[in-house]
Amino acid sequence: MKVIADLQLHSKYSRAVSQKMNIEELFFWSKMKGIGLIGTGDWTHPLWIREIKEKLVETGRGTLRLNSNLKKTVFSNLFSNLKRQSFSLQEQDTEFLLATELSSIYSQGGQTRRVHNLVWVPAISSAEKIIRELNKRGCNLGADGRPIVGLTSKEVLQIALEVDESALVIPAHAWTPWFALYGSKSGFNSIEECFEDLSDYIYAVETGLSSDPAMNWRIPELDHRSIVSFSDAHSGPKLGREATVFDLEELSYEAIREAVMDNASNLSSPRRRGSVDSRLLGNDRNKISCTLEFYPEEGKYHFDGHRNCKVRQTPEETRERGTQCPVCGRPLTVGVEYRVQELAKRDPINTVKKIDDNGVRWLYHPQNMHPPFVNIVPLLEIISEARHAGTGSKGVQEEYEKVISSLGPEFHVLLKADFDDISRASDARLSEAIKKVRVGDIYIDPGYDGEFGKVKVWKDDGEDVVEDVGKDQMSLF
Ligand SMILES: [Zn+2]
Ligand SMILES: [Zn+2]
Repeated sequence: MKVIADLQLHSKYSRAVSQKMNIEELFFWSKMKGIGLIGTGDWTHPLWIREIKEKLVETGRGTLRLNSNLKKTVFSNLFSNLKRQSFSLQEQDTEFLLATELSSIYSQGGQTRRVHNLVWVPAISSAEKIIRELNKRGCNLGADGRPIVGLTSKEVLQIALEVDESALVIPAHAWTPWFALYGSKSGFNSIEECFEDLSDYIYAVETGLSSDPAMNWRIPELDHRSIVSFSDAHSGPKLGREATVFDLEELSYEAIREAVMDNASNLSSPRRRGSVDSRLLGNDRNKISCTLEFYPEEGKYHFDGHRNCKVRQTPEETRERGTQCPVCGRPLTVGVEYRVQELAKRDPINTVKKIDDNGVRWLYHPQNMHPPFVNIVPLLEIISEARHAGTGSKGVQEEYEKVISSLGPEFHVLLKADFDDISRASDARLSEAIKKVRVGDIYIDPGYDGEFGKVKVWKDDGEDVVEDVGKDQMSLF
């Protein structure tokens, strides 16, 4: 079975997150998007773990699902205005996985390090044991859904594994400058440098919005690790803007874990091989099928620059001109593309492009060492451009709901729906826009220093998008 998973997001208890982000909202938007497995986010937060225990029940497979009372309410309240009756009942129900994020800020090798790591566990009891261990070490878990801890990344991994040997720790948005494993401002140059003798337990890294798998394929230490992608959403509509598709025998935590560990079968050194349960190597039952990616240029740290001075530089320009802002003289924020080039031990990968029956362009590793990926643009953004109106405007949101309720979840519309059906559900202009996005025939103004890149389906067709809503939930990142 194929399961679309989004296992990195935040609840309303994290900073700068929509106050609507509760369990019902996560479930509702998962159904809208077509996500079959969604992270809970934030389970170290005392109020959020309480909500998780009240609203979800364990399935016995290491995942959780809505309790039956809540399921009835969610279906009658949230889905009532969606026309297609069968919409909410399709396929299998979305399940949850206990996935949280810790922000480690510490000093190592005489430098300040700030690294975000995801922690996944298969049971509430394991989550609670980790919470106890963190509390014992003085971590203030009530301060934020994504708490700052004074523990090193390695200590976080050690605690998680001591509590539950099937826990997974995955460096989050690995390339972003300020808070990541490879970040230019406060990260490390390698997984080994960061996790030392426990590096073998890092089976995957998360790409983040500003990098895509092909950029990560240039890093040799990732050859035998998986590349996963998730949304890091702070509001419902942003769920699934990146996602990982798993091919599983059945939906369970153990199957997800096997799939994440699968790339360890590319191990070459015997020392590494010995550290991984050989039963899991090269398993053909549970795999990562592909990842669904943001265009990395659309991410807010793709290029280098200084936002206040509106200075943006390509990595080539930065190498020529240096890393100081030419306007104010302060240090530029060096972006993800530059940092990948700095750490890459090989030339850019020539991806193999294949167009599928639905007109979607897939990008493959030339030696198939990693699963393929596809670049997607969120449907709200595509409709926004087709309608010349902001993503938060009423017209665009109504159109979005109309398309979803007549055709099915967003991923289906983006990657599979028939172009004639899209024309009928909306119009020929949206159908054409989706056709162009599927094949990659679009334009992107790259993001830098915290400023998202801008996607254009049509190059300068004369009309600018007008944001007609001031402050609105849809625009929360
Ligand atoms: Zn983070
Ligand atoms: Zn400046």
